[in-house]
Amino acid sequence: MARPTVVAGNWKMHGSRDTARALARAVVQGVGDATGLEVLLCPPFVHLLDVLEETAESPVQVGAQNVCDQPEGAFTGEVSVAMLAELGCSHAIIGHSERRHVYGESDELIERKFALLHQSTQQGDPDAPRAILCVGETLEEREAGRTLDVIHRQLQPARSFPDAFPRALIAYEPVWAIGTGVAATPDMAQEVHAAIRTHLEQEFGTAAQDTVVLYGGSVKAANASELFSMPDIDGGLVGGASLKADEFLSICQAVRK
Ligand code: PEP
Repeated sequence: MARPTVVAGNWKMHGSRDTARALARAVVQGVGDATGLEVLLCPPFVHLLDVLEETAESPVQVGAQNVCDQPEGAFTGEVSVAMLAELGCSHAIIGHSERRHVYGESDELIERKFALLHQSTQQGDPDAPRAILCVGETLEEREAGRTLDVIHRQLQPARSFPDAFPRALIAYEPVWAIGTGVAATPDMAQEVHAAIRTHLEQEFGTAAQDTVVLYGGSVKAANASELFSMPDIDGGLVGGASLKADEFLSICQAVRK
């Protein structure tokens, strides 16, 4: 099975209802029928419904930037897997570096989110969002030669759920490349992506070849084609550059070349 190329926009905490709608509309128009490409928009929770309405008649998918590690209950400020599924969210990002490093999310917490997303599908909700599990090392960890140790540790949540792949996706996002304007070089990223796939192969067997592994960290129109042409890079998780329709559409265009 050939892996699809996926371009996902992580809008983080930006925009208003009006700008979210306008951006979604422009992406829908620009992407057209999107052959050979999956496009995903991840707006803030409060803009999900607006963006879902704007994308309803198009192949553009809509995902959440986060999800609660508990199915329901007294968890003030949280949003559950079932709530996202009911809205029609196709994906949920978990373990983003801003969640890990700014909000102190632990590997254990992220593992519970991964488990819930997986189990919801298993327990008869075929529309439960797919996990996009983010992994990536800090600059300090890279310089200490610990990149792969860190990534193997962050992939640990998946170990208990070998059949979660290829439904679940992985995003390799080196922390030092996120929002800095300094992307990993294509060779650097490919090296880590290949190591991730080898690790998946060892742990989960054949599903590894079908699992989408995205690169994230200062992807823009100017570097997207080179990054996406690497054999183990199956598209991008795009932050800043996803907030401008033209730039984001040029990144999508890079896949088609
Ligand atoms: C991200 O937030 O996932 C990201 C990769 O951000 P940026 O593209 O702005 O580096």
